[in-house]
Amino acid sequence: MTLLGTNTFVILDSHQSSCVLVDPGEGGETRARELEFLCTQIGVAPRLVMVTHDHSDHIEAAAATCAQWRIPLLTARSGDLSEGICIGDGFDIDVIELKGHSADSVGLIVRGDHVLLSGDVVFLESWCCLGSCDSDLRAYFNTLNRVESLLAEGEICELLPGHGSMMRRDVALKRIGEYRRHRFSRLEQVREVIKECGSIDCASVARRIYPGMIDKRNTLLQRVVEVQMEYLEGQTVLPA
Ligand SMILES: [Zn+2]
Repeated sequence: MTLLGTNTFVILDSHQSSCVLVDPGEGGETRARELEFLCTQIGVAPRLVMVTHDHSDHIEAAAATCAQWRIPLLTARSGDLSEGICIGDGFDIDVIELKGHSADSVGLIVRGDHVLLSGDVVFLESWCCLGSCDSDLRAYFNTLNRVESLLAEGEICELLPGHGSMMRRDVALKRIGEYRRHRFSRLEQVREVIKECGSIDCASVARRIYPGMIDKRNTLLQRVVEVQMEYLEGQTVLPA
């Protein structure tokens, strides 16, 4: 999905004898073998695989990885990961909902390290795409607020995103501010186009926002615009 690939995280238990694998990534069996090599090098056996959401760049290698170690896969879609669930048994990982990028997006707070595995919410080097069939901008803004509060209150001090570099507290807070401004300026742009051309047809608004982009990405970009239009519906003033 991105030029930076997907980050896979290995969370060790308190005895450092087993681990949880988060977001095994793309690549099926090849990737599963790479993860096996990595775990063998560290000297830990995985007990679980979890995903922050089920987009293919995060989950593709999960089936092969689980089959290899005969371990379960926990996902939000299957009801295993939802707000308030704690993965104990030596791990101390809290699950929080971070909907917006997708309806099944969750974050994992590793309590001992004060870090949040945040999936596809905020990236340092790029913008997160809100173009999935179940992307929701209102939920996404709530998620940004929530992550911001967790950082501001010191409950977490580092973000480990699904793509790109990790962010320490100050960098993450700054980046969340940039993300919010970026989204609002895009929303203003969409609102202007709607006003100008008097059209609420998503395809024609998308053509105005992304002129000349008529390749296969067009469907995705059209959905990106649609998600913004869904948000703007009934919204008279953008939040400050
Ligand atoms: Zn995703």
